[in-house]
Amino acid sequence: MKRKINLLISECLCGVPCRYDGKDNALPCLKELEASFNLIPVCPEVLGGLDTPRQPAERCGSNICTCDGTDVTDAFSNGAQLVLDIALRNNCKIALMKAKSPSCGYKRIYDGTFTKTLTNGHGMTVERLLNHDIEIYTEDDVLDLLEQYK
Ligand code: SF4
Repeated sequence: MKRKINLLISECLCGVPCRYDGKDNALPCLKELEASFNLIPVCPEVLGGLDTPRQPAERCGSNICTCDGTDVTDAFSNGAQLVLDIALRNNCKIALMKAKSPSCGYKRIYDGTFTKTLTNGHGMTVERLLNHDIEIYTEDDVLDLLEQYK
């Protein structure tokens, strides 16, 4: 039997209601993912000590602020470091992360104006994973990921 590799995954994609609004982003293909990978679910914002539900937050340059102006950079940064530690401990070479999030987003994220406007950039956790050569996928290319590792 083929040995499954470890896949770091945003916990909300696994159906855990850890989003800022207390909802989840459960993937329809979760069963297929479980068949192909050992899933290592992580939510950097919860790991960083934030409550659920919580105020929505967006990246503003190198900082992260909530919509009411509170700077939550420290919590996001602590969560990002804990996720990186988990990834390295589990020898994760790839990660499936939630698009557009200030923590988990890859390539395109909200621009800090809270107007649903996207800009180029990564979430803080993804930035840290990329610095350690972990390959990032999002839910937008999950079928490519499944195809590649089936
Ligand atoms: Fe999902 Fe990441 Fe946001 Fe947690 S921080 S709710 S895992 S997108």
